[in-house]
Parts: sequence; structure tokens; C-alpha cells
Amino acid sequence: MPELPEVETVRRGLDKLTTKQPIEGGEVLLQRTLAYPLSNAEFCPYLVGNLISSWERRGKYLLARLSSGGCLGVHLRMTGQLLWVNQNTLLQKHTRIRLFFPDSQELRFVDTRTFGKFWLVPPDVAPETIITGLQKLGLEPFDSEFTPNYLAKKINKRRRPIKTLLLEQSIVAGMGNIYADEALFKSGIKPDVLGTDLKETQIQQLHSAIVEVLQTAIDQGGTTFSDFLNLLGVSGNYGNAAWVYGRKGEPCRVCKTPIQKIKLSGRSCHFCPSCQS
Ligand SMILES: [Zn+2]
Repeated sequence: MPELPEVETVRRGLDKLTTKQPIEGGEVLLQRTLAYPLSNAEFCPYLVGNLISSWERRGKYLLARLSSGGCLGVHLRMTGQLLWVNQNTLLQKHTRIRLFFPDSQELRFVDTRTFGKFWLVPPDVAPETIITGLQKLGLEPFDSEFTPNYLAKKINKRRRPIKTLLLEQSIVAGMGNIYADEALFKSGIKPDVLGTDLKETQIQQLHSAIVEVLQTAIDQGGTTFSDFLNLLGVSGNYGNAAWVYGRKGEPCRVCKTPIQKIKLSGRSCHFCPSCQS
């Protein structure tokens, strides 16, 4: 599943390639990809003639600001991919939505598992009233208010494994499985330590590890894992440099102990039993 660095990579591509151009048309090939409005008759006609003024990201949500007011929201979920292609490019089997731009260009949404969603938020309506998932999001990791103190308040009283807590979008918006494993390794914390048992210094280390790991992954253009591709169909580079994620049985890059993989709350966790406690 694309996480914050992958969604941010897509946002940067969208901002560069699709803004300041009119949407000339659209086509919805899978009705249930539309979360709001539910009808194609309302979706495409509204978009036509609109320019996208900018793309924003909130957690794993993408929000395009439209010139006539309102915005277009997109969530890639498990397997959604946005691709910038020529309209003559052969339709991929799992193409769900197409938006047409000048010069035969197209923003194409391809989604094998069909969990991805689009929302059209009318003008003068707050996006979170339509895209309700936005209401639950915690702070962005690059927000100035995301501090060790904030993190401590969110996890100190929680008797659940820290790895499970990190995956709650209400603590750090956009955090997912790959980068939670990586940040816990960088801060020397085992994934099953309870939130209540973390010391102040550990929370400080975790805070800086979260910011560092996410920034590194953005700099690498996202991950090589989970079939992630950017807007031009190119994979990121982060996976090659991963500390623990996807490295079960391989030697720890610091101490050579084999990396272990366990399950917590149904999600896989990779960690070094020697570097993390
Ligand atoms: Zn190690």
C-alpha cells in the first residue's frame, strides 16, 4: 500500500504535470471508484473546463484544488496508480477513471484491487465533510507542531504495541507498515513494546527517526516495494536501502544478526532482535 512518501512522490508529479491545464473530459469505467458523488453524470460534467490550481497531500489523501472552487480528492488505497499517459496508450485491464487534458494527455487511474476512491467536493464545502477519513488524521510528520511532546501525549497512555499505534492514522498521518518498521529500527525500539512502557528518550528517538525515514524515502522517490510506480510509471529507490522491511533472515546492516519477522495485530513486522529492545 502506498504510504506517505509514495503519495508525496505522486503529488509532486501531479503538481508538475497536470496543473494550470483545463480538464477537457473524463470517463468513469468502474462506478464504485466514485465515492462522491455517486453518479458519473454529476462527476465528469462538473470537472470539464476546470483547471487544477494545485495538488495538496493530507496523510495518504491527494487533494486537487479546482479553479471553479471545490476540489477533487483521491485515495490510492492498496493498489491504486495514477499515470500520466497519452490518450492513445492502450487501456490497462484495470483502468477505472480517465481524465483528459490538452495535447491528448490523460491522467489515468488504474487499480487492480478496486479499493481506490475519488471524491468531488463542491465549492464552499469543507473537504472533511465529504471525505470523512480526513477528520481522523493526526499531524503531518513535517508539521512544526509534530514534536516529541505531541508524540508522547498520543502514545503514553496506550497499552498497545507501538508498531500497532504507529499505523493508526490519528497519530502520524500517512504512516504505514514499511516506514513504521524502519522508524522503529532507527530508534532501537522493538515493535511489540507497549506505548505505556516507552521512556521519554525513546519517544524522542522515535520522533526524529520518523521524520528522518520519511524524508529519506521522499528523497528516493518512494519505495520499490508493493509495486509502487510514480506518475510516469517509474519505481522509487527506497527498498534497496531498507534497514529491516522485507529483509527477513538477511543480516542486520548494523550488527549482522538475522532480521526477524513477526505478526502484530495482523500486520507483519520486521526487526533486529539485537539492535531493538
Ligand atoms: Zn542489528
